[in-house]
Parts: sequence; C-alpha cells; structure tokens
Amino acid sequence: MAIIKPLNPSHQLQLLRALSVRKEFSLDEKQYFYLLLKGYEGEKRWREYLNGFPSEIPILFDLTLKSNHTIFQVDALMVHQHHITLFEIKNFSGNFTIKDGHWYHSNKEIKNPLIQIERNQTLIRQFVDQHHLQLTFDYLLVFVNPEFMLYDSKPRKNLILPPQIPNLIRNLSQMRHTPTTHHTKIIQTLLTHQTESPLFVIPKYTYQELAKGLFCNKCRNKMERKANRVICPTCKSQCSLENALLDLIHDFSILFPALKVTNQVIFNWCNGIISKSTIRRVLLNNYSLKGSGRGIYYERK
Ligand SMILES: [Zn+2]
Repeated sequence: MAIIKPLNPSHQLQLLRALSVRKEFSLDEKQYFYLLLKGYEGEKRWREYLNGFPSEIPILFDLTLKSNHTIFQVDALMVHQHHITLFEIKNFSGNFTIKDGHWYHSNKEIKNPLIQIERNQTLIRQFVDQHHLQLTFDYLLVFVNPEFMLYDSKPRKNLILPPQIPNLIRNLSQMRHTPTTHHTKIIQTLLTHQTESPLFVIPKYTYQELAKGLFCNKCRNKMERKANRVICPTCKSQCSLENALLDLIHDFSILFPALKVTNQVIFNWCNGIISKSTIRRVLLNNYSLKGSGRGIYYERK
C-alpha cells in the first residue's frame, strides 16, 4: 500500500500517555484515556490488515476535515479509480446486541456507531460536492477486534465483522487502480483541508506534582538503571539509555511545550537517574543546540 498520510498517535493521546504515568487520574480521566488508547490500537490493527495491499493504492489515515462548519474525523480512507472507501474502525471487544435500532453491550445501551457513520456520510458528501471532486464513496464500519461478537437480526451492508475482514481485503485489493491527475486532486484536496481537532479537555497538572523518573512503555511502572540499560523490574522489558532518554525528553516537550529543554531540566525530569554527561551526549546527537553560555537549550531537529 502507498501510505500518503501515516497513522500516528494523536497529540491528545501522546499527552495523556505522558501524563498517565506521572499523575493519578480520576476514574473518568482513566476511562477516557483507555478509550483513546484502545481506539488507536484498533487503528494500528487495521493498518496491519492493509499491509499486504498493492502499492499503487493510496491510503490516508486519520483525517480531520471540516464541512459546513462541522469538524469530523475519518479513521482511514482508500482512493480507488473514481471511488473512495472510508473506514470507521472500532476496537470493541465482548458481546454486543442490536435490538430495535438500539445497541447494547452487557445489557447497557451504548451510542449507535451507525449513526456516527450516517452523520459523517452526509458531511463527506457535502465535502466532495464543495470541492468538485467527481467521485462516489462508501463508508464502512469495521470491527477489528477478534473478540468482538454482535447479535443482530439482519445483515448490514456497511458493517464489517472480524470474520468478514479477509474477504473485504481481497475484494478491495482487486479493485482496478491506475493513478491519474484526478487522484492527485482528490489526495491534495484532502490533505490541504486538514483542520485542527476540536479542543479537548486535559487534566490540569503542574510540573511540581508530576512524578519524575523513567517509566516503562509497556506496563508504565517506574524503570531502574542497570549499567547502560534501563530495566523495568515489573515486566522485565528493557531499553538503551539513549532510547529511554529520547522518550523522556519527548514526554517533557509534550507536557511542557513552553519550557526550554536544557541539560539540567532533563536531569531533574529523570530524577537524576542518568548522568548529565549522558544527557548532553544524547541531546547533542538528536537535538539542535541553541543559545550560548548559560542560556544554552536544545530544540528538536
Ligand atoms: Zn514494565
């Protein structure tokens, strides 16, 4: 496949991930964070499915578009000859039921995801018309988690269950595709009309209250320094000092975009676990040096 716009964790997810290991979340914050994380993992799973696609088929992940003053998001989009296929990816797991148009999970009613698709369909139709893109489209709601089960009384054309994915992939990859200027126009229009995601609510935090140190990427517990590696005593995963530092600096910049990255700041941020000379070396190798004398700081290259 030709990935025109790659899949990356959203800014919001990166921020919450950096914060979650350093601050105790309320129950609501925890649930919201795990929902975002699960959604992103579902999108990654979908990207794996699309890996075997013919390389000439353009695929765009995570589009945020605006139509008639309404912002909407598309998880993934595939451009065919005169047609686009849009995907809404759900990573739900467990038993779900549709009864009289209402969706239930463990007997509790949930938001009907087909309504979101219908709303987005109207918006994408307006977007296509507004930008004079002559094409048709379909919009599929794909459940990617193999542990998802849906009890429904009738088949639904735009709803794809886990066992139907291999057949869908086969059909989509057989669609004819010859790149034309029309495709370039479609892709350019989509890319140049990306808009900012709606403002999201983030928990309040201060530098002082956040836990300092190195945290495990897998189990999120505190990591320990062992010679030139960093090891998680809980799940035993490990990484090099350099990678651990780069993650740590990345988290710092996401959480405190207005603060300058300096050797001393990062030394404090890792709780003194890594020496200043190692921090300086990693910063010099990966960041650009700015300022002079006592005012030296580093910026992302
Ligand atoms: Zn761990």
